[in-house]
Amino acid sequence: MASTVGPEHHNGGGPDVLARMSAHDHEQVAFFSDPVSGYRGIVAIHNTRLGPALGGTRLWSYLTEDAALTDALRLSEGMTYKAAAAGVPFGGGKSVVIADSRHVDRPALFRAHGRAVESLGGRYITSVDIGTSPDDMRYVREETTHVGGLPTTVGDPSPATARGVQRAIEAALVHVRGSADLAGRTVAIQGCGHVGYHLARMLHGAGARIIASDTNADRADRVAREFGAEIVGSESIHSAQVDVFAPCAFGGGLSPATIPSLRCAIVAGAANNQLLDEADGALLERRGIAYAPDFIANAGGLIYLCQEVAGWSTERVTSTLEGIFDTMSAVFGMASARGIPSSEAAVQIARDRLAARAVPNTGAPLAATA
Ligand code: NAD
Repeated sequence: MASTVGPEHHNGGGPDVLARMSAHDHEQVAFFSDPVSGYRGIVAIHNTRLGPALGGTRLWSYLTEDAALTDALRLSEGMTYKAAAAGVPFGGGKSVVIADSRHVDRPALFRAHGRAVESLGGRYITSVDIGTSPDDMRYVREETTHVGGLPTTVGDPSPATARGVQRAIEAALVHVRGSADLAGRTVAIQGCGHVGYHLARMLHGAGARIIASDTNADRADRVAREFGAEIVGSESIHSAQVDVFAPCAFGGGLSPATIPSLRCAIVAGAANNQLLDEADGALLERRGIAYAPDFIANAGGLIYLCQEVAGWSTERVTSTLEGIFDTMSAVFGMASARGIPSSEAAVQIARDRLAARAVPNTGAPLAATA
């Protein structure tokens, strides 16, 4: 297995890796290959000033190495902002494994990934992401201790993510309607999977009316049955007349193609990278829609993971999770005061927190301390 950074092992014909790293202040990008298992992976470490870089492992059949590198760079930077804004003692990192999940020896692949993570000496801690499961992390754990999200530990983070989204919705309601009360409000939930299901449960419990969609009919039926949700087609959920539209399925759903047909006062959901393009935040702003930036709204899962990887108590997890309300309120406050989109304010708040809490990076491996 080889770990390399630099132009002699570049990304297969794309733009220079070091130039791309410096464009967004990435600290390190490491490329790994294990011919025996067929493992090919990239670990991007964006920033470790607040602690070791934390971020999941994405397994995807990327068409090109360049596409894999782009994903790793973009996602690791997003993790820096998510962790800084959430107040957790971690930096931002992400790994991508280039593989076709139908044709891999998962134990061998994830052991190889574990050796790759271990070689970084604790600068990077991994967990699950799209295409990987807690079971895969068991194989990573055989090679390194720098891994969370195992099946034997704290379990599914989705209820915590849903609770954080609820707090984000409440902050947005205060901003828009002057009250956090969910009773009588209508929320359209796009995607009734792990997070969407729990969000529907919590909002229903708080007295909200739920409209929901899922391309998987069983999942939609379940929220209809259990929480009285009205089910609509996946193509029309974003244009439902509601107080809140909550994207909980996929990223990139807010774009010039969809924003004009939104009929909500607030967008607040769990999906990562909801804006197709950064500029779409301004488009929402111009339509008078309050957007709760995704990386703040959906930080509950990351906060929950701190029990396992930072030794946090349940009380500390709960109070930090509840604090999503205050962070989101600060985002809307800054956006109003400066006349900027909330998406920009969120990045600014994350950068401010990073600068305020940052200690000089000595280059030495960092421990995950609370
Ligand atoms: P999931 O796969 O369990 O649920 C997604 C659901 O969306 C599925 O039920 C799927 O059938 C449905 N879906 C797919 N396409 C759809 C469409 N076009 N219209 C309506 N429904 C559609 O995923 P999840 O864990 O619930 O995560 C949801 C989103 O939140 C993802 O973007 C994820 O990255 C993000 N997120 C999740 C967590 C977490 O703790 N699970 C944390 C942070 C962010």
